Amino acid sequence: MVRLSGPRAIPIGRQLFSSTPPLGARIRHVEYGHALDVAGRAVDAGLAWALRGPRSYTGEDTVEITSHGSPVVLETLVQAAIARGAVLAGPGEFTRRAFLNGKLDLVQAEAVLEVIRAESSGALSTAYGQASGRLSERVRVAKEHVVRALAILELGLDFTEEDRQEITPGLAEEHTAQALRLSRSLTETFEACRRRMQGYMVTLVGRPNVGKSTLLNSLLAEERAIVTPIPGTTRDVVEGKVVWAGEAFRLTDTAGIQDTGNLAEQEGVRRTRAAAASADLLLVVLDASARWEPGDDESIALLDRKPGLLVRNKTDLPTLIEIPARYAALPQIEVSALTEQGIAQLQQTILRMIPVPSLRDGTGITRQRHLEQMFITCERLQAAQQLLSDSSPECAAAELREGLLALGAVLGENVEEDVLNRIFSEFCIGK
Ligand code: GDP
Repeated sequence: MVRLSGPRAIPIGRQLFSSTPPLGARIRHVEYGHALDVAGRAVDAGLAWALRGPRSYTGEDTVEITSHGSPVVLETLVQAAIARGAVLAGPGEFTRRAFLNGKLDLVQAEAVLEVIRAESSGALSTAYGQASGRLSERVRVAKEHVVRALAILELGLDFTEEDRQEITPGLAEEHTAQALRLSRSLTETFEACRRRMQGYMVTLVGRPNVGKSTLLNSLLAEERAIVTPIPGTTRDVVEGKVVWAGEAFRLTDTAGIQDTGNLAEQEGVRRTRAAAASADLLLVVLDASARWEPGDDESIALLDRKPGLLVRNKTDLPTLIEIPARYAALPQIEVSALTEQGIAQLQQTILRMIPVPSLRDGTGITRQRHLEQMFITCERLQAAQQLLSDSSPECAAAELREGLLALGAVLGENVEEDVLNRIFSEFCIGK
């Protein structure tokens, strides 16, 4: 598809596409016709339509021409458009214009990128929750409470109340508290929502040779990691992505923890610890066909800081392992990575143990930019709350105004050019 946006979109579009009636004569109508090269020769058949601003994505006049998708046809159309006075769009330029023309707020514009990048239906639902304005709405409600608190403090009126109710100092406090509660609940969604967007990280740890690589392969249902019977061969961290029940997972296999003099293996152990530290869930893999070893204790020690479970692997072989009683309280599951016995149950258990976003519809914040502004908001509102209870309404109002600015910044009010440049540089051309 070739998309043109701007005041000259329709006249230029008409020179790129011939149809009866001509493009733009009927707005929002699909016309059948021919794509034209710079000399006006037909190069392909296709469909095209024209939209009049502000009823378009960008809010400007827009023409969209679809053809058979050959890169040569697209290139010919783009060259012809440039020859007629169009300029190439920058990354994310259509979405940027939509934002500048007030069709989207900044949260929604940023979410377009998340929708495009979503790798699972879970990630898509969080992204679409932002793109469709559910997140913005929550930010606006918090903002509204701050505005009301400020109006009470500065003007002595609660102008948004339908019935003029009596203004009491307590009312400003109530609105501040409400705004703070909403802001905090949004801040708390960050971790779970971001994890969901990136894919939950599940890390396999355990002594060398317990079957981590084999287990990773059977969970990924592909030959991702190299499986060999020599202990200590997985020196690096191997990662694979899967989608289960609409949620994306990044599964990582690690070098395995053991005392070693070998430098490459020491580096592997260091990376294992780093991978375990950033995991959402740890699978401590144990070899059920072998005796207990101190290395198993070292692996289990990683569960002190992370949720996880013990996976008794190789249960197709005669059992030798005796798990010490001190670990009896930890969740356990039996599998055979080789025969795939128990793998489906393991998947189910992983799904049950991941942190789900705390807001039920999955609405929440996923971007560092939002988190920073929400932190500022919470800080300011908290300070305002304190000042109100100390009976310093002027100082409280100053804090509330700062909070208001931060909430506005999330939505892109008074945002600076370089912030926009940074955001839209992540987009690709044509979005
Ligand atoms: P890692 O070092 O922990 O990654 O272990 P590997 O996945 O490389 O496996 C070590 C050896 O154990 C290989 O020879 C595998 O074929 C074998 N193995 C792994 N899982 C099982 C299992 O469930 N049953 C049996 N019988 N052998 C397994």
